Amino acid sequence: MKTISILGSTGSIGTQALEVAKAGNMRVAAIAAGRNIDLLEAQAREFCPDLVAVFDTALAEKLKDKLSDTSIRVLAGEEGVLAAATHPDAQIVLNAIVGIAGLRSTMAIIEAGKTLALANKESLVTAGELVMAAAKKKGVSILPVDSEHSAIFQSLQGVPEGSLQKILLTASGGPFFGKTRAELEKVTLEDALKHPNWSMGQKITIDSATLMNKGLEVIEAAHLFSVSADDIEVLVHRQSIIHSAVELRDGAVIAQLGTADMRLPIQYAITYPERLPCPCGRLSLAEIGSLTFAHPDTETFECLALCIEASRKGGLKAAAVNGANEAAVALFLEKKIKFLDIPRLVRLAYEAQPDVDSFTIEDVFEADKAAREIVLKNYK
Ligand code: NDP
Repeated sequence: MKTISILGSTGSIGTQALEVAKAGNMRVAAIAAGRNIDLLEAQAREFCPDLVAVFDTALAEKLKDKLSDTSIRVLAGEEGVLAAATHPDAQIVLNAIVGIAGLRSTMAIIEAGKTLALANKESLVTAGELVMAAAKKKGVSILPVDSEHSAIFQSLQGVPEGSLQKILLTASGGPFFGKTRAELEKVTLEDALKHPNWSMGQKITIDSATLMNKGLEVIEAAHLFSVSADDIEVLVHRQSIIHSAVELRDGAVIAQLGTADMRLPIQYAITYPERLPCPCGRLSLAEIGSLTFAHPDTETFECLALCIEASRKGGLKAAAVNGANEAAVALFLEKKIKFLDIPRLVRLAYEAQPDVDSFTIEDVFEADKAAREIVLKNYK
């Protein structure tokens, strides 16, 4: 029986991961989340982990009271989340925390020598070089949960090293595909939260509407598969059936197809290399009928262009872009800025971030902080 810990257990990925763990008869050693103590209590009672961590310290005290009739340990703050990340019983840890808040956990999981099932793309976006170097040094596997990266990973199974020509990274195009800048001036928060194919957390849903999510995924893929942004072609594929593909040196293209259900990539990451039955729907290609492809509009959806540029430049540019985006999306969710303010603010932070040759994790957090400050100073 495999033992797993799940960080971000109350979120969209986290709750689906618990479903997958239950279906696969896995033991759950630890769970962690930010603030949702009601759901954490229910999860703790159902899965009986040894440890539950809550980032918000005041709420952790409340959860301790709620669980006082059990032997489950409740820990608080970043320290608590890191204890969940490194719980000795888990062989595999799924990091589904949203944002750069997941970076220290990613590093801690790797340092503890555990297999990392990674949904938290922001870890790789902001500190990909450091994360990949640490994983290599420790001999730790990073198994992608993001559906596109899982598709690339699946397509590369059995492909000899050195055979990859380029990655075809598919994008649904989000709710605003085909719109002009003038039309985007008028879109609302409610419009942006209506993703055509996927049901996800709020931050990634907004990132999908701006195409920032695809940009973050370019940076993520470049690190995970050791390629440059120029070897990644973003392809708008409205149906979200082909989750991504690889083109090999001989011209063969290998893709992974499936329904738009995150339980499959989550399961593949936590049971790899095994293939177990999955509760997700089966694909009927005849019912779908046709699949379409188009180039993305990087002039209208500037966040994608900025991420590609940040990936090419390297250094701390991606950390700045990511930090500015997290701050801008939070303001958009509070209805304090308009949709097109997001790319405007991300560009300001991108331009302000100086080029650097080498950096540490603390430099990443500094670049993130500086980018957020730029957003807060310039949003009005
Ligand atoms: P959600 O917003 O649904 O969930 C985020 C989770 O992170 C919640 O459990 C939240 O806890 C927790 N959290 C937030 N801050 C902290 C913190 N400081 N310490 C510990 N836990 C924290 O996000 P998603 O599940 O949608 O996304 C999670 C990650 O997976 C993101 O990086 C996203 O880009 C990636 N991803 C998501 C996909 C999806 O389908 N949803 C697809 C591919 C990638 P609480 O709610 O209790 O505050």
